[in-house]
Amino acid sequence: MTERKLANSQLGSLEYDPAPESAAVARLAPSYGLFIDGAFTDPSAHVQFASINPANEETVATVAQASAADVDRAVASARRAYESVWSKTTGAERAKYLFRIARIIQERARELAVVETLDNGKPIRESRDVDIPLAAAHFFYYAGWADKLDHAGFGASPRSLGVAGQIIPWNFPLLMAAWKLAPALAAGNTCVLKPAETTSLSALILAEILQQAELPDGVVNIVTGDGSTGAALVEHPDVDKIAFTGSTEVGRLIQRSVGSSAKHLTLELGGKGANIVFDDAPIDEMIEGVIDGIFFNQGHVCCAGSRLLVQETVADEVLRRLVRRVEQLRVGDPMDKNTDVGAINSAAQLARIEELSAYGEREGATRYTSSCVLPEKGYWFAPTIFADVAQSHRIARDEIFGPVLSVLTFRTPDEAVAKANNTNYGLACGVWSEKGSRALWVAQRLRAGVIWANTYNRFDPTSPFGGMRESGFGREGGRHGLEAYLDV
Ligand code: ADP
Repeated sequence: MTERKLANSQLGSLEYDPAPESAAVARLAPSYGLFIDGAFTDPSAHVQFASINPANEETVATVAQASAADVDRAVASARRAYESVWSKTTGAERAKYLFRIARIIQERARELAVVETLDNGKPIRESRDVDIPLAAAHFFYYAGWADKLDHAGFGASPRSLGVAGQIIPWNFPLLMAAWKLAPALAAGNTCVLKPAETTSLSALILAEILQQAELPDGVVNIVTGDGSTGAALVEHPDVDKIAFTGSTEVGRLIQRSVGSSAKHLTLELGGKGANIVFDDAPIDEMIEGVIDGIFFNQGHVCCAGSRLLVQETVADEVLRRLVRRVEQLRVGDPMDKNTDVGAINSAAQLARIEELSAYGEREGATRYTSSCVLPEKGYWFAPTIFADVAQSHRIARDEIFGPVLSVLTFRTPDEAVAKANNTNYGLACGVWSEKGSRALWVAQRLRAGVIWANTYNRFDPTSPFGGMRESGFGREGGRHGLEAYLDV
């Protein structure tokens, strides 16, 4: 193992003055209850826990730990709202609510971006330019479908499922809430949403937005808490559908639990995406795409391009350019508008990234770590590239979910495809080549739900997203996303 650190100054990186966004924009309450039946209520056991800013370990606000009894109240509220209101509300009326929610998200976008960054640790530039606009876009998009379900390709008058229990992760908190709620509501279901325990706050602001939009009480309920809250939701007998995004490990547990019931289930789980670079790829765009593919959102992205497969003829040059680019990434205060890479979401996730990276060294890969200076408080991991990675290495197989890229090489398109498919996952891949025919040839052979060509991490509400094999099943986004919430 060789570890190489390059001095920033040698690479001519520019210095910027700090450009922090104001935390005061967030206007957060010191503590939040559970959002049940249209109102914030105390959890039955009166237990609160802290939601920490991972960039400085300070408490942003405290949130309620929902017990099984609270989940029961939330499900009962969703059932009442389904039977008495929402199942009788026309598609055109449902659309009006969704449009209203989308517009209020836009109006409160700056506040939501600040809350997301404080609570999650992601750079404000990303929450401002990606998370929040895309969340609004999902509500706008599905508002358009609500009165057109007859034309969605699922037959005349497709029926909603009833009460949907939705469990989301911490990497894109508001966006994942939008991915879950917008299609479910458009299709006529009512919801109980469980945010991840480290990032509940934007969902609670969304609860305020639902009140502002005058969504009928109980149509959406938001129960905060840890895995036990999620498990209570999964096991609740009056839930018709479970939609889960999170780790493959928890996905397996949920599948087992749901398997013996009549509940509908969709799972969006982990990934180990391959970004395949051919020697004719447009190099400047490709380097940016590969960097964005793994370092966007600190690599906390299920579809991250965490394996780079590069054609041997250009491998040295590509590696050199990547290492240089990594050195230029600005790591630090997520609230600074110039920051590229923010904080790792939690101490537990940092420990996992550190553990897997240590394996990379132990197993003989060559490690390049940015020489950036990490803040003293908070959870931080310097962007890292491993070269000379073999397919058997853990860093080529396990999902690291952090800013760590594993570089492997190939000689022929067949070898690239074989290596890309040599994973238990099947969520996303990228292909970089000037030749459209080659990109298509490769794409047809890759076993993954999403394939990007000459781009990466491109999200759009009109486009279905989801995996195969251990990355789960079901699609979110696009017309396909409606299917998950209709009895078809
Ligand atoms: P990660 O390991 O990335 O934190 P998890 O899969 O543990 O991802 O978490 C994703 C979501 O699943 C979170 O909202 C979490 O609280 C929830 N969760 C964790 N364990 C369970 C469980 N046993 N049943 C249902 N939900 C769970």
